[in-house]
Amino acid sequence: MKKNLLFTAIIAVSFFTVTAQTPDSLQREHVQDSLNDSKAHATEYYSPEPPIITPGASYGMPPSDAIILFDGKNLDEWADDRDTTQPAKWIVADGNFTVNKKTGDIRTKRRFTDYQLHIEYRIPADITGSGQARGNSGIFLAALPWGAGGYELQVLDNYNNKTYVNGQVGSFYKQAVPLANACRKPGEWQAYDVIWTAPRFNDHGILKSLASGTVFHNGVLVQNNTYLLGDTPYIGQPQYKKHGAAPIKLQSHGDKSEPISYRNIWVREL
Ligand code: MG
Repeated sequence: MKKNLLFTAIIAVSFFTVTAQTPDSLQREHVQDSLNDSKAHATEYYSPEPPIITPGASYGMPPSDAIILFDGKNLDEWADDRDTTQPAKWIVADGNFTVNKKTGDIRTKRRFTDYQLHIEYRIPADITGSGQARGNSGIFLAALPWGAGGYELQVLDNYNNKTYVNGQVGSFYKQAVPLANACRKPGEWQAYDVIWTAPRFNDHGILKSLASGTVFHNGVLVQNNTYLLGDTPYIGQPQYKKHGAAPIKLQSHGDKSEPISYRNIWVREL
């Protein structure tokens, strides 16, 4: 019994010791809290604030700060790539436009450096051909007037259609194999969302930093901050040559398959 009493007494004293707070200890705690607050504040920033924008009403719709490159009505933002004084001659109908293989590539009138791009395309339901000759087009993320013509993100129908994997849809042409094949069937609209970082050069034309791109194909990550080794030629090795802001170009590929269509194109400069 005595033992039990002693044990209870020890517990009671311990409890009192742990929980009892004198004015001094409360003061110390308060000072410590204040010190922690100011240490935490030292690594918190309140400006500049990120801009407030209104997101699109649904996936793929442009947010309030986007530059609209095609909203279904006309190709006023685009020019003929062969003669940039001429309007783009691709065919607008039903809220989209279709590649005109007779007139060649088209390019934006505006020039861009780093940006976020949304673009949708549709392979015709009656597409024919195989390999690279089946719905081939492409998005040149910076169109250049020499060599391969820039950096091409491939557009191709790879729904049950094989080709070299570094040239299938979602590839940076002949440089980077996509992480997945997220193709939809011909006849269905598909989307690319791209984050593009342009290469940088010093005053002597020496490369300071590589171009890089992150790409979602139909919402699936297919290029994860991929660095490019230069432009994307059909033959030969990639090369860099000094350039600045550049247009975005859409490819009119010379294969005989039915032309594809594009719609809902917008860009946010970064
Ligand atoms: Mg192509």
